[in-house]
Amino acid sequence: MPEPIVQAGVEVLRASAAYVSPDEIRTPEFQALVVRMIAAMREAPGVGLAAPQLGVGKRVFVMEDREDYLAAVSKETLDERERVVVPLRTIVNPVVKPVGKATKTFFEGCLSVDGFVALVPRLREVTLTGLDENAEPVKLHLKGWPARIAQHETDHLNGMLYIDRMVTRSFGTVDNTRGWLGKKSTVEAVKALVVDPPKRA
Ligand code: ZN
Repeated sequence: MPEPIVQAGVEVLRASAAYVSPDEIRTPEFQALVVRMIAAMREAPGVGLAAPQLGVGKRVFVMEDREDYLAAVSKETLDERERVVVPLRTIVNPVVKPVGKATKTFFEGCLSVDGFVALVPRLREVTLTGLDENAEPVKLHLKGWPARIAQHETDHLNGMLYIDRMVTRSFGTVDNTRGWLGKKSTVEAVKALVVDPPKRA
């Protein structure tokens, strides 16, 4: 049976998660949590999962974007989003820092807001630091979609969901959005969501 993923509205998704010490990382309990997280992410399937999404308030996420996931997406979309393969990684106590000020806005979803998507602006380029599953320091320089995943998952550990950052009028179900807004370029989609004030007669 796949493990249920906690859905929006539950307190653990809105709380700041606890830091994890190097000693705790090496415990069998913590290692078992990481195994559960990887299994739940792959089962969903998703490209990232944070511990609060399994109801555990600890600062750890897993991420992985696989060749077979990318194969299902058009080259145009992959290029636009700068989406590339991300090997499986476990990041404990992650810290995201901006590299430059550029942002990119794309549709994004979350396994804890199941069935919906919205346009979300994110930093295009970041550094991600933390500890890996062996409590060794990690420092990654990420750009494009991998940078987006790191920002989304780190937000989870601070009690934030993408709906806190989204272009609110772009929020919709995956199916409905795919039908009209998803067919436009991101620039066109943003434009289509602007409301013109009613003209006076
Ligand atoms: Zn999420």
